[in-house]
Amino acid sequence: MTPFRYLRVDTVPEALAAIATLAGDAEPGHDREGRLFAGGTNMLDLMKENVMHPHALVDIGRLPLADIGYRDDGTLHLGALARNADTAEHPDVKRDFPMLRAAILAGASGQIRNMATNGGNLLQRTRCMYFYDAGVPCNKRAPGTGCPAAHGIARQHAILGASEHCIATHPSDMCVALAALDAVVHVESIRGTREIPFVDFHRLPGDRPDLDTVLEPDELITHVAVPPNPYAPHSTYLKVRERASFAFALVSVAAALELYPDNMIRSARLALGSVAHKPWRDTEAEAMLVGKPATTDTFIDVAAFLLRDARAWGGPALPESTQGNAFKIPLAQRAVVRALEMAAAGIVTNTGADAFRMEGQP
Ligand SMILES: Cc1cc2nc3c(=O)[nH]c(=O)nc-3n(C[C@H](O)[C@H](O)[C@H](O)COP(=O)(O)OP(=O)(O)OC[C@H]3O[C@@H](n4cnc5c(N)ncnc54)[C@H](O)[C@@H]3O)c2cc1C
Ligand code: SF4
Repeated sequence: MTPFRYLRVDTVPEALAAIATLAGDAEPGHDREGRLFAGGTNMLDLMKENVMHPHALVDIGRLPLADIGYRDDGTLHLGALARNADTAEHPDVKRDFPMLRAAILAGASGQIRNMATNGGNLLQRTRCMYFYDAGVPCNKRAPGTGCPAAHGIARQHAILGASEHCIATHPSDMCVALAALDAVVHVESIRGTREIPFVDFHRLPGDRPDLDTVLEPDELITHVAVPPNPYAPHSTYLKVRERASFAFALVSVAAALELYPDNMIRSARLALGSVAHKPWRDTEAEAMLVGKPATTDTFIDVAAFLLRDARAWGGPALPESTQGNAFKIPLAQRAVVRALEMAAAGIVTNTGADAFRMEGQP
């Protein structure tokens, strides 16, 4: 591990001043990003594996940013330093945001969720195996060196929105639900505050895969605001993975329906996880659902539309290949149909012991 300076901050102004100073004085060979330390569950791994080597770490763990609860404007406030576990178990989240709770509980393990923070969850890095191996090229870790995954082992990789420069996926479960729920990320720096719609927070790789998000190096996430949720009775987080627990998703779906009493769809929200460099939200597919009956036939049409631009990567790109990810395209289509069926039936999640139904649903 490269030596680094450790700074502990206790107030937000102190933190902003420290981040601003560090953002301007990166030393050669050191990263500009990743200088904050919240729960440390991703950052420490990346430093130990020599993937990231910041010259200084600002420990923000004691900042007063761990609040969760409703605000006067009706939004649910999720503090950046609230732990994932506390967020999932908060009474307002349990009652009004079951899909978000299910997504959080589908991620990692109880021990990790006890350490991991909401801000850190948004900024966790891809799980591409080449990214984690400092001995091989990778455009995200070392810009301009190439992308071995594009023709290599790509089972976990993107089928939507990728570029030849990078086919990595964003691995978070929680972020998929937040994208579907129209959340907004609030950030602060010494230059002021800004609000970033969740769907615009993470980037597609293009020719700058080293940049995961639109966050500037001197900005701190203070909280995420989630608007009132009309979808609670009919929302689902479906996670498909290679092991039943403690595994990142191959594909995940956050599906939410607002239904009329005759089962016609009034409005819908749909986001896919682990299929792109960011949570994948398609408002055209959502619009297709409006005014249609909540039936499997409707869902099959929408799933086909949602995956219309999907492409396989890795090699060889055959459906039966164990290296390429062609299998993820039909898998994602089936997952979308199943998630919408579950949402219509009021089934919140498929994830093992965490699976539960909304009260009052059969
Ligand atoms: C074994 C294992 C399995 C996992 N499985 C899953 C899974 O299935 N699903 C899933 O979604 N996740 C999974 N995770 C990832 C886990 O959710 C993340 O590691 C965690 O959410 C990161 O939060 P943290 O507070 O520990 O972040 P840290 O590691 O402290 O920080 C991560 C990044 O966020 C930045 N950061 C943190 N807070 C802020 C802030 N307020 N403002 C600006 N920047 C900030 C840091 O600078 C750093 O770059 C797994 C992790 C492990 C180790
Ligand atoms: S997919 Fe992205 S992270 Fe993985 S090797 Fe290619 S450039 Fe690196």
